[in-house]
Amino acid sequence: MGILTHFLIPLLLINFCAGSTNINCNVPSSWLSGNPTIQRSTSSSGQVPYVSGINFYNTYLWSKWPQGRVKYKLNATLTASDITEVRKAFNEYHTKTCIQFLPWEQGDVDFVSIERDDNTCGLAHVCKIGGYQFAQFGGGCRTMSTMVHELGHTLCLGHEHQREDRDDYVTYSGCHQVPTKYTNNHVPKGIYDYRSIMHYWCDANNACFGGRPLTPNVNNCGGAVTTGLSVFDVDGINSLYNCQGCTRHRWRPAQSLTQADRGNLHNFGHYSQDGNPLYPCRALYHGSVSVGTFDDATKSCRIYYAGVVSVTENVEVLTIPGGLSQSCYKYELVSRTTASPRTAIPAGSSNWDGWVRYIAYASKTLANGVTDKTFGTVSTYTQSSFTYSADMPSSSGIYYTLDYDVLSCRLDDECMRWNG
Ligand SMILES: [Zn+2]
Repeated sequence: MGILTHFLIPLLLINFCAGSTNINCNVPSSWLSGNPTIQRSTSSSGQVPYVSGINFYNTYLWSKWPQGRVKYKLNATLTASDITEVRKAFNEYHTKTCIQFLPWEQGDVDFVSIERDDNTCGLAHVCKIGGYQFAQFGGGCRTMSTMVHELGHTLCLGHEHQREDRDDYVTYSGCHQVPTKYTNNHVPKGIYDYRSIMHYWCDANNACFGGRPLTPNVNNCGGAVTTGLSVFDVDGINSLYNCQGCTRHRWRPAQSLTQADRGNLHNFGHYSQDGNPLYPCRALYHGSVSVGTFDDATKSCRIYYAGVVSVTENVEVLTIPGGLSQSCYKYELVSRTTASPRTAIPAGSSNWDGWVRYIAYASKTLANGVTDKTFGTVSTYTQSSFTYSADMPSSSGIYYTLDYDVLSCRLDDECMRWNG
């Protein structure tokens, strides 16, 4: 279909095909080759930083949705249950990002038509192309999960398993058709995200879809382990669209912190025994995201994994541009007993249990009377409370405690009353 298909990225018929060898699920190579994409924006301005493959300057074809507002129409092909799934997908974006899907109104030129097409699992135009465009799901793929994936394309996201550096994380060894790698090597990548909803399923039997994971403890990927957006997906979208409020925190690669990033680090009033400010970091290590304390001198993150380890690869540091309190959206440490996962800042998830990891802060008085302060990890799978002890990888070894604070962000009602 010429130019149209060039700008579409298909989702494989995963629901039909996972584990099956009877159905040919291969996507036409022309659809996968040379498809440009945007993986992650690391620009604090929220501008689309670089798009490779085709004309970078063609902002008409490759524009984001202004203010993250996407107008939509529900096509008549959708059943009532399809619409329920679509609304769940919208809700996933509305509760975790600043993206808004809003009903088309008279006079709106650019909009996405949400459609059912049983000839596809899922198919969507990439970015805002101008005028009519669609996000489709069909057949056995008419789920929230598929629609979250397709709407990710609508918002300019590409496939995680087609990142330029994916060969470090998955192998397509022995596959007769291998998804193309995007070569947008000007965009610094975040931590490789096996859990991204933009990653195809992957396991030993399904290796030619999303590849076989090369990281220990990672047994499957994408929609097989995440029904909605992963924590990294959320972080990436909020960065790409320069989301503010309680979605303005940004995790930055430890190896390439800029001056601006450094100005956005926050120690929450806490210092090491040597008097240096302490900053939280996260690392993907052996298939799980852990939170720890950043060491600027070595660019390492001190985490716990069967012992205290200083990790130097796949490390990101938390920055909060705009300060801890901005427009009444306040980042603060909240005592475990009153903290809620709904307002806590997630750091990532484990690839083996799927539990979400959050940022815990605790201090401990050492034998010599000195107070040792540390960032660590607390996990939960509920949305109601923090009931488990935190892993605290301190300078004097690991300890576990129920006496910790959780980094959270909330809308300050008092502030809103004064400032309207
Ligand atoms: Zn896709």
